Amino acid sequence: MITTWRDPKTEQSIVEDISLEEPWRLVEHFSTLTRLSGSEDEAKAVAYITGRLDDWGVPYVVHRPTCLISLPGPATLRTLGPAERSFRVKTPSFSPSTGGQEVTGELVYVPGRQASGIGDLFSAGRPAPPRDLRGKIVLTEGLGIAARGLDLAGSGAIAAIFINPGEGIHEGITTTSWGSPDLDSLGRVPPVPILAINHPDGEALKALLQEGLVQVAFSNQVEIGWRQIPVTVAEIAGAQAADEFVLFHGHLDSWHVGVGDNATGDATLLEIARVFHQHRDQLRRTIRMAWWSGHSHGRYAGSTWYADTFAIDLAENCVAHVNCDSPGCRWATEYRDVNWMAEAAELGREAIRDVTGQDATGERPLRAGDCSFNNLGISTYLMLSSTMPLDLVHEKGYYAVGGCGGNVAWHTEADTLEIADRDNLLRDMRVYATTLLRTLNAPIHPLDYRATVDEIEEQVGRYQAAAGDAFDFSPSLQATRNLRHTLDRFYGVAETLLGREVDDTAVRRTNTLQRMLARALVTLSYSRDGRFRQDPARSIPPLPDLAPATELADVAPGSDRYHVLRTHLTRGQNRLVWDLRRAERRIAETVE
Ligand SMILES: [Zn+2]
Repeated sequence: MITTWRDPKTEQSIVEDISLEEPWRLVEHFSTLTRLSGSEDEAKAVAYITGRLDDWGVPYVVHRPTCLISLPGPATLRTLGPAERSFRVKTPSFSPSTGGQEVTGELVYVPGRQASGIGDLFSAGRPAPPRDLRGKIVLTEGLGIAARGLDLAGSGAIAAIFINPGEGIHEGITTTSWGSPDLDSLGRVPPVPILAINHPDGEALKALLQEGLVQVAFSNQVEIGWRQIPVTVAEIAGAQAADEFVLFHGHLDSWHVGVGDNATGDATLLEIARVFHQHRDQLRRTIRMAWWSGHSHGRYAGSTWYADTFAIDLAENCVAHVNCDSPGCRWATEYRDVNWMAEAAELGREAIRDVTGQDATGERPLRAGDCSFNNLGISTYLMLSSTMPLDLVHEKGYYAVGGCGGNVAWHTEADTLEIADRDNLLRDMRVYATTLLRTLNAPIHPLDYRATVDEIEEQVGRYQAAAGDAFDFSPSLQATRNLRHTLDRFYGVAETLLGREVDDTAVRRTNTLQRMLARALVTLSYSRDGRFRQDPARSIPPLPDLAPATELADVAPGSDRYHVLRTHLTRGQNRLVWDLRRAERRIAETVE
């Protein structure tokens, strides 16, 4: 089968050469560097990586794009009355700043909630609070990152303090502009300064409010500006189809010394570069390894710059991209809800089973991490890898975080050397190496887009059920079924090519069509802002053009909102049907 293709002998000889020596040296070195985007410490990290690449003769380029970066400075908070007391607070990247000037106001508590899971961390918040918050400083629960701060627009509040779920205060970023903004994504920052406070202090403030009026004074400083950041890209050319490539990438920048997030990922990238370069004669396609800057302080600015700058090359030749964030962390022994697109689920599951003996579970990739290639339509798998077992999470009283294998040291001063785990890192590196090798060497790309079409059909079915009689999705369902039938014939032929070479003419033609399918299906399924733009950094529902179907059941037929929704869905459906039909015809021409 296409998705289970493997070459055990080659695989074993390469995967066996992966060891901990080089990766652990990097992890130890990086545990001394606070790698803020564009900083001196980050430059030292780049020098370390390029130094090793030089030693081994791995070709690379360090790009220096100018991106919009925001570095949080100090923040203060104190109560003025009834009693005076200072609290420890942080402010996130891209928060509006008071420039260090104290601003005073009355504190009001607006009940919020903590994220229920990692997907929830990146989602939009509640609808705007119903109360009149003019001139008030809002105290609420949450991390204060991603889209939540935006919900205060129009409330009249002058600031918001988010109570984090635990002892630590998590660093974060508030803009929902994915990468540096263009005209479409300007203004995707919260309207007011954002602060974060830890749970005990937040509860103390809530207790004070129970007793009566509380006046507070706060200040923050946040630097925002266009600055040069380093983007390091190494390349090992494939021996047969060098134009076809896999992009393997992770972020170099960090909050504090960021060992679990993401020195372990940087080490994985470097070890794969070392070992794959040694075995370059056995690699049939090209692999590019990229260490991004601007992830933490530019909302994925480095990977987005790369997606923009190399858009045409990526759209034509990239087989898949693989994001490596937070592998090899302490206690992370399970592969649960691993992010992979439907077409890559089988590949990911098989590789994890072959390396670890575990049955992994997967989920649809979140709109997070450096997955800056959804609009371009590029398949992906393994954004995060191993994670802590749920019972251990509960036993420790941990809560949902966005990395570090589930350790709550994520995005805090505590993400130090003890968060990395040697055994888990070695195992995760072997998982990455195995999936990458199969993608690089399988004659037919080991991605099955029938699974993607099935996922689309199921999703349209769900939207139809939600919309009831208020909207007819049968043209979408018809188009998915037609494509599915044609793909059955296409993959029937493709299976017969598995014994051929990667540069065989029929193999190359088949793979070009597979990449064309990805450009249609991934783009439709994960984005709506156009192939060369970026959807916002907030959760994106499946087939976002059709997602408003879920609202239709709740609006009165004939109301203004009803007509707006139907107009929206008609346009969304046109896009879906058009793209599916075009893909279907191109495939049909080749299998007749
Ligand atoms: Zn990360």
